[in-house]
Amino acid sequence: MFRYGKAKLIEGVTRIKDGIVNEFLIEGRDRAVLFDTGLDLFNIRDYVSKLTDKELIVVNSHFHPDHANGNHHFDKVHIGEKDLPTFTTQDVYFKLVDDIVTATLKKHPRAQKIMPWVDKLLMTKKGNTEYIPLKDGDEIDLGGKTLIVKDFPGHTPGSITLLDPAMKFIYAGDASDIDIWMFTNPECSLHDYAEEGRRYYKEVKALGYTRYRGAHMPLTHKISFMRDYAEWIDRLTPQKAFLKLPVPGVRSKLCFAAAPSLRHILFTSVYWAHQCDR
Ligand SMILES: [Zn+2]
Ligand SMILES: [Zn+2]
Repeated sequence: MFRYGKAKLIEGVTRIKDGIVNEFLIEGRDRAVLFDTGLDLFNIRDYVSKLTDKELIVVNSHFHPDHANGNHHFDKVHIGEKDLPTFTTQDVYFKLVDDIVTATLKKHPRAQKIMPWVDKLLMTKKGNTEYIPLKDGDEIDLGGKTLIVKDFPGHTPGSITLLDPAMKFIYAGDASDIDIWMFTNPECSLHDYAEEGRRYYKEVKALGYTRYRGAHMPLTHKISFMRDYAEWIDRLTPQKAFLKLPVPGVRSKLCFAAAPSLRHILFTSVYWAHQCDR
């Protein structure tokens, strides 16, 4: 576990490193936002209580287990309205896992043995948490600091980002980074993601935002990254993948692609072949 000094990222912001994912504690004068609750490798609620005694507002960037597994420690969690969990196969991500697991068990009944691990690693813990939907444009008042919710769908249907208008800084979760796993939202085409990326970039650029931070990578990006990544992903085809794998329960192959970028070092993605269809 590693904690940045407060001045290292931005004044009043602590990055909490949680295995492969970062949570952000963003403090105002009166209240603080915890953006994501992580893998639940440690008790995030206890940990954060040592960092701040301000009233805590817990927000998920999206409903994947690496960002939401610590939710069960909290009474209330805010999340993008299209990622509001039902903990059934109505949730896009849970349906994908269920499709793959069901088809795999049909083909290989002995795979039943790994089911407890699937539950532990791939599913988000339910608990008694109340989920509160956030809408695009909602403002979170922290006292002397306001964060604005901005939708950036693609990685999941309800992925949200938080804008900090005073610092012109964006917390992007998994919505945009060096490696976007598009396969987690199989019904979203790469072209639709690219259109969202272009729209998002234009809007935040017009508002004067300059930098953003994803949840997994140790780099702060210039916002031009999201524009250039969108252009790259829009040109992906199944043929451009360096690896293609058949996966039981899914209608097309899982594709892995990567390309160096002169300006941004690297772009990578994992997607289903059918997501390249227009
Ligand atoms: Zn994710
Ligand atoms: Zn993630």
